[in-house]
Amino acid sequence: MNTVNAIANNMNTNHRYIFEKGSKKYRCPNCGKKRFVRYIDTKSGDYLPKQFGRCDRESKCAYILNPYKDGYAKAIWEQEQGNKIDWQPQRPKRTKKLLKEPKRAYIPFEVFNRTRDGYGQNNFIQNLLKRITFPFEVQDIEKVISLYHLGTVQNGYRKGANTFPFIDAQGNVRAVQVKEFDEQNHTTRTDFLHSIIEKYYSRNNKPFPEWLVAYNKNDSKVSCLFGEHLLNKYPYNPIALVEAPKTAIYGALYFGFPDKQTNFLWLAVYNLSSLNLNKCKALKGRNVYLFPDLSKDGKAFELWSTKATKIQKRLGSTYFHVSDLLEQLAPQQDKEQGKDIADYLIEMDWNLFRIGLNNNLILSKFKHNPKVTPMD
Ligand SMILES: [Zn+2]
Repeated sequence: MNTVNAIANNMNTNHRYIFEKGSKKYRCPNCGKKRFVRYIDTKSGDYLPKQFGRCDRESKCAYILNPYKDGYAKAIWEQEQGNKIDWQPQRPKRTKKLLKEPKRAYIPFEVFNRTRDGYGQNNFIQNLLKRITFPFEVQDIEKVISLYHLGTVQNGYRKGANTFPFIDAQGNVRAVQVKEFDEQNHTTRTDFLHSIIEKYYSRNNKPFPEWLVAYNKNDSKVSCLFGEHLLNKYPYNPIALVEAPKTAIYGALYFGFPDKQTNFLWLAVYNLSSLNLNKCKALKGRNVYLFPDLSKDGKAFELWSTKATKIQKRLGSTYFHVSDLLEQLAPQQDKEQGKDIADYLIEMDWNLFRIGLNNNLILSKFKHNPKVTPMD
């Protein structure tokens, strides 16, 4: 048996170098997180040099250095045979994965497309047309539906619920939030389309479709802004950023559509805590007005103000202004209920907004109230 085969044999059958058993983790030489499993030499019981191992952050880092692949095992073997070696361990290379966005799975277009119908049984839409105090005209509702691609859950236990898709600037559907409402369009239940589909397959003992398996591996489900797909279409409008998609829809209905360049383009983050740099990258270069919901002691306002300052610094050429309009206007009772701009708007006659009160009313608060300072 020649030397090469002997080495190969030794490596394949004896597994002298193996990953350490158990749950002990070290700092990864690539990403720095304590998620690194080291190799041990079963012959001596010692660790291999600390660059040998595997990071278990598979989607975010995936660093790996295998002693059999980089020549270490062979070098040690040669050494033990009394041969001279000139092998040097290689310096760990940074993996590309750290620099790239994690690979993401999306909701397939056919799945999303099935939601885009059934508006006659969609409670949110029907409330806006018939049940609220100041119902909207059909053409306005059709307009928000087509702008934001609102849809309906058409069967199953969430039948009649409204769907709010989160579509990114490239047109990928990253998440579809599902909401049920009472007759005044207050949220009663929140769900996600992928969860509903998952339950359907589980209950019927059917294997999950491939896209769902991949989708469930995503680090975060709601990873873009609601309405992000509209940014390229309306490149000049100021942006109004709110927490919930429903609020963005109301904003568009009351303050006017973005076809007019001076009107706000209304986008939503998803919830209070999910405002972050990654989501805001799409807003680079824009003028952004944030409207956090009300909260006890103004916590929501504080949180968004702090985050907005940080995000603005990182993005550059982007201006974030946080509105405390509601904080100023609202009675304490409303703050404790966490009311948002939608709760106020829906009590008002939209006709009044359309005759010129609209954006100036809100923008004037930024200019004239010393308490509200734009952050640039
Ligand atoms: Zn790592």
